[in-house]
Amino acid sequence: MLNEFAALGAVAPRCSNATAIDRLRELARVTVFQPEGAAAPIQILGVLEGSGLGFAALWVAGMSAERWPPAPAPNPLLPLRWQRERNVPRSSAQRELEFARTITARFASAAPTVVFSSPVRDGDRPLSVSSLILAYPEHPTGANAQGWVQLVQGSATLETIRDDRAPVIAPGAVAPGGSRLVQSQSDCPFQAMARHRLRAQPWPAPLAGLSAQERGLIMHATLASFWESVRDLASLVALDGDMLDAHIDRAVRQGISQLPSVRWRSLPEVVRAGEAVRVATVLDAWLAVERARPAFSVSGVEAKTVLRLSGITLDVRLDRVDALADGGWAIVDYKTGRADGPRQWFEPRPRSAQLGLYTLAQRDATPDVPVRAIAYAELCPDEVRALGVAADTAAWPGLKELAEVGAFEDWNALEAWWRTSLGALATEIGEGRANVTPRATHPIPCRTCRLQPLCRIQSTRFLDALGDDASE
Ligand code: SF4
Repeated sequence: MLNEFAALGAVAPRCSNATAIDRLRELARVTVFQPEGAAAPIQILGVLEGSGLGFAALWVAGMSAERWPPAPAPNPLLPLRWQRERNVPRSSAQRELEFARTITARFASAAPTVVFSSPVRDGDRPLSVSSLILAYPEHPTGANAQGWVQLVQGSATLETIRDDRAPVIAPGAVAPGGSRLVQSQSDCPFQAMARHRLRAQPWPAPLAGLSAQERGLIMHATLASFWESVRDLASLVALDGDMLDAHIDRAVRQGISQLPSVRWRSLPEVVRAGEAVRVATVLDAWLAVERARPAFSVSGVEAKTVLRLSGITLDVRLDRVDALADGGWAIVDYKTGRADGPRQWFEPRPRSAQLGLYTLAQRDATPDVPVRAIAYAELCPDEVRALGVAADTAAWPGLKELAEVGAFEDWNALEAWWRTSLGALATEIGEGRANVTPRATHPIPCRTCRLQPLCRIQSTRFLDALGDDASE
C-alpha cells in the first residue's frame, strides 16, 4: 500500500500533509488486508488470504456456479484487448477459470480434511453447484442433521447465573433516585435498577424545541419563584390585575433563566418567546384553581427532607407544602404531563408513589400535625386542574374524599396503607430485586420507559410466545 502511495508522486502534484494523509487513509480503506491477531483455533479468511496456507481442517464455503469461477471484471479504463493479450487479472473468463481451477486444487490439498460447500438457494432463487468441485465426492446433508443452533447448544458448557438481583443496599444507606426510585420499583423493578443505580438513559430523541424535562424544570422554577414572593392565599387574592401580571412576569423570567443561555441560543427566538407565553398562561390558570381553596399559607417550596423506610434512606423534595389556616398540611406536587387520578393510586403495586412518600415524610417530620390533603397540580396547556385526595372537604374542596378512592376508614388508615405498600417496595430495593416484571395494568410502563434495548423485554415475550421449548 505504501508503494502504491509513493507511486502517486509520479502523477500527482505536490500536496499538503493533510491531503497526503487523506490519500493514505483512502488507500488503507480500499486495500484488502488480513488483520493481525492472536493465533485463533478457527480463522475466517478470504479466498486470496487463505490460498497457499496449510490447515488442520479446511471448509471452503460459497462454491456456487455463479460465484466460482468469479465473473471477469476487466479494468474499464484500459483497452480490453490490451488486457487480454497480457493476461491481466479479471480480464477474461478463460483467465478466471484457470485461476479458479488453480485455487481450488490448492485448497483441496491444504488440509487432511477439506469440505467444499455450496448454498442451495439465495432467497427464493435456486443456485447450482460450481462445476469445479463436482469432481470431489459428495456427502449430502443427512435428513436428521442438526442445525447449527442445536450443535452450538449441544457443545456448550452452560453456567447458571441469577440476573434479577442487584447488589443489596447497606441498611440505612441513601438509595439513589429518591422518590422516583420507589415509583420506578413499583412500575418495574428492572427499570428502577437500570435507571437509578446503573444510570441508564434512553437514547435521546431528536428534538426541534425544548424537551419535556426542560419544560418541567422551567415550570417548577416559575411556580417556586411565584410562591416565594406571594406567600399565601390572602396575598394572592389581594393582587390587582397589574400586580398579578408583574408577579407572573417576574416568576416566568426566573423560570426561563433556569436553562443556560447557551441552550437558549441554540433555539430559535420564537421558542423562547412561545415558552414564556405558555408558562405564563398555565400559571395564570393554576392560580385560578388556587383561589378557590380555603385559606392557606405556603410553608415550604422545593423543600428537601429525608425519609427512612424499611431500612433504606430516601432523599425527597416536596414541590410545595401549605399550612392550612384551620390546621394541618396540604402537599402539592407539580406535573407538567398527565397525572394519575387518585382512584388509580391504590393498586397492589401503587401508582403515584411519590405522593405517598411525601405524605409519610411530612408526617415523620411533624408527627403532631396531620396531612389533610395531597394533590397533583396537573399543568398541561390544554387542561390545568388539581387531582388528589383530602381528609375532609374543608381541607380542599374539589379533591376526592377518602371514601371515594378506596376502603380507608380515615386518613390514618390511608397513611398506614402507604407505609406498608411503599415499605414493601423499599424492602425490594434494599434487597436489590431487579427482575423484568413491568406492571401489567394499563397504562403499562413499557410504553414510555424506552429502556427496551437494555431489559430486552421483547425477546422474553417473543420466547414466551413460542412456548416452553423455545424458552429453554
Ligand atoms: S421497557 Fe418495560 S420491562 Fe423494560 S425496563 Fe422498562 S418497564 Fe421494565
